[in-house]
Amino acid sequence: MVSRSLAIVGAGFSGAVVARQLAEAGHRAVVFDSRPHVAGNCHTVRHTDGPLVHVYGPHIFHTQHQRVWEYINRFGEMVPYNHRVKATSQGRVYSLPVNLLTINQFFGTTLSPEDAKKLIENKSDKSIGEPVTFEDQALKFVGRELYEAFFSGYTKKQWGLDPSELPASILARLPVRFTYDDSYFNHPWQAIPRHGYTPIVEAILDHPSIEVRLSTAFDRTMAADFDHVVWTGPIDAWFNHQHGRLGYRTLDFVEERHEGDFQGCPVMNYCDEEVPYTRITEHKHFAPWEDHSRTVTYREYSRLADENDVPYYPIRLVEEKEQLLQYVQSAKNERGVTFMGRLGTYRYLDMDVTIHEALDTADRMVAALREGSEMPTFSVDPLGR
Ligand code: FAD
Ligand code: UDP
Repeated sequence: MVSRSLAIVGAGFSGAVVARQLAEAGHRAVVFDSRPHVAGNCHTVRHTDGPLVHVYGPHIFHTQHQRVWEYINRFGEMVPYNHRVKATSQGRVYSLPVNLLTINQFFGTTLSPEDAKKLIENKSDKSIGEPVTFEDQALKFVGRELYEAFFSGYTKKQWGLDPSELPASILARLPVRFTYDDSYFNHPWQAIPRHGYTPIVEAILDHPSIEVRLSTAFDRTMAADFDHVVWTGPIDAWFNHQHGRLGYRTLDFVEERHEGDFQGCPVMNYCDEEVPYTRITEHKHFAPWEDHSRTVTYREYSRLADENDVPYYPIRLVEEKEQLLQYVQSAKNERGVTFMGRLGTYRYLDMDVTIHEALDTADRMVAALREGSEMPTFSVDPLGR
């Protein structure tokens, strides 16, 4: 087998997993990241006040993919953790996602699952067929009162747009339950790494055929030194934004430090439009097995990203999708580069999907290198969903 030399741009989960798989298959990888740390947006640090802090916002690992679960457990200890979220709306605290407790608290009832289902069915807007917008989806599945209490204000703050302008798919991520099950996620494996995500990514990258260069931005002029480039940065940046900048929402986190316990839960959403922030994260509640007398909170504000901001949520409305189509066409004419990850394919991706796609893409790359066939242009089709 001929050993190839690859540049992997980005040391988040996408870049780290691909680098590891290629290294284990006998190739060499140099991993670049413009930041001074690995793990991308999943980076965690131990705060001087004690708790582990998720620097780029709260990250809970959850998956239904056995291969991904086994993979992450190879590189660090995952502690079972069931994520539960609370929400403040119009001066009262509720349980989210909408479940039987939320319904009974909100309507002041003691309904059984069957009766709650009937109540919500009565409130559902039956004139809506297949929901297209976020607002349609909410009015169809929970009715106007719950929509206005929990979704309308929060979503306007999160996306800077009216829910009637956003796609139904954003809300479809959240379940509605007619039981008292208040888990935020449905997946069979849910966990938090005992020592944070960063040591896991460091362990993935710890291989004799991988070199990591931090605080080093990569651009396409550096590609000549390598047989192939894997690009997990923003797809528009590879093309010097020639079709315009793809739009993202960014987040500002305002850190506060307190004695004791600030809010008694990891995440409290603030659903009223008048409250300028969307949620407060209290990091120490992600690790109930640790004990800290002090606590650190992040108050989270969402706004449109400009070119110097960290890109968080791809906007993916009609205009951005048209731009993306142009970038996808440009990418198909490009040789020697594979685009992947949340920025390389301009999609919202959970960590487990990121790892799953990275493993699958690495398998295809290893096969292509072995057979001398074309390397994939994309991990998955960015326009596919
Ligand atoms: P990233 O982590 O963004 O890594 C890309 C890396 O590329 C970055 O480190 C960047 O610095 C680097 N880079 C870019 N351009 C260049 C360049 N030119 N040269 C060098 N380096 C470059 N997922 C979950 O499963 N559970 C959660 O609870 C969860 N919560 C989230 C909360 C928030 C607020 C956000 C925004 C995301 C959340 N996610 C969550 C998603 C998770 O962050 C992503 O799945 C994951 O970060 C994707 O990894 P990645 O490697 O594709 O991208
Ligand atoms: N959402 C909402 N109210 C809430 C929580 C979520 O309206 O209290 C909406 C919001 O538009 C958000 C979407 O549901 O973007 C998906 O929620 P999720 O918790 O998955 O958002 P993320 O973790 O990606 O920020």
